[in-house]
Amino acid sequence: MLGEPAPSQADLNFVLFGIPVRVHPYFWLVTLFLGYRLGDAISVLIWVAVVFVSVLVHEVGHALAMERYGFRPWIVLYGLGGLTCRDQRYGFHSSRYESSGEILISLAGPAVGFGLAALLVLILMATGHRHALDFVRLWGLMPTVTLDNLRLQQVCNAFFYVSILWGLVNLLPVYPLDGGQVAREILLALNPRGGIRQSLWLSFFVAAGMAIYGITQWRSAYAAIFFGYLAYSSYQTLQIYSSRGRWY
Ligand SMILES: [Zn+2]
Repeated sequence: MLGEPAPSQADLNFVLFGIPVRVHPYFWLVTLFLGYRLGDAISVLIWVAVVFVSVLVHEVGHALAMERYGFRPWIVLYGLGGLTCRDQRYGFHSSRYESSGEILISLAGPAVGFGLAALLVLILMATGHRHALDFVRLWGLMPTVTLDNLRLQQVCNAFFYVSILWGLVNLLPVYPLDGGQVAREILLALNPRGGIRQSLWLSFFVAAGMAIYGITQWRSAYAAIFFGYLAYSSYQTLQIYSSRGRWY
């Protein structure tokens, strides 16, 4: 599946809450590519900064949950999104950890994003912007705000967009997204012999369905390519898994 990219000379390295973070140059390139049509240079800069903070916050959620289970995590931002890796030697390997711990680690990323978006809604309400908020996008789940300060409005709306959409997309039961890991743990607990195969089929059908939905409903080539690739990748893993009878 999607692994950690090799270190490059243009990597940005820093430490956040004691967690090493590495930003691969492709992260900036893909983010710029997705946002370059947003308007003037400052709007594009706001987009890149908000995507950086939102994706980092999501990965910090995973990393802090991993630390709780004794792992030593590190974060890599790469392409469209991020990875939180861990040194397997340090984890607790009790049977109780295995599925409930994996599920909590996977849900912690989207949960931190949703939590911060909710906090921003509360801050806007508390500062007298209740009527400036609107909840019509994405089945009423995505807030948008209209503010006197255009730049502040752009920051808030980009943050709502990225943290909520990225969190929801990540909850889909598709490998290697967070929801794919959760589906694997649940199906494996229900069916230890066939759970992984079931989770790969689920991943394939949901990703293929999302690719079709993306192109027909959202008219988004990006969504179609993203989910089309994940469907292909799940199908390929299923073939390897079926021929070898095991995975990993
Ligand atoms: Zn995640």
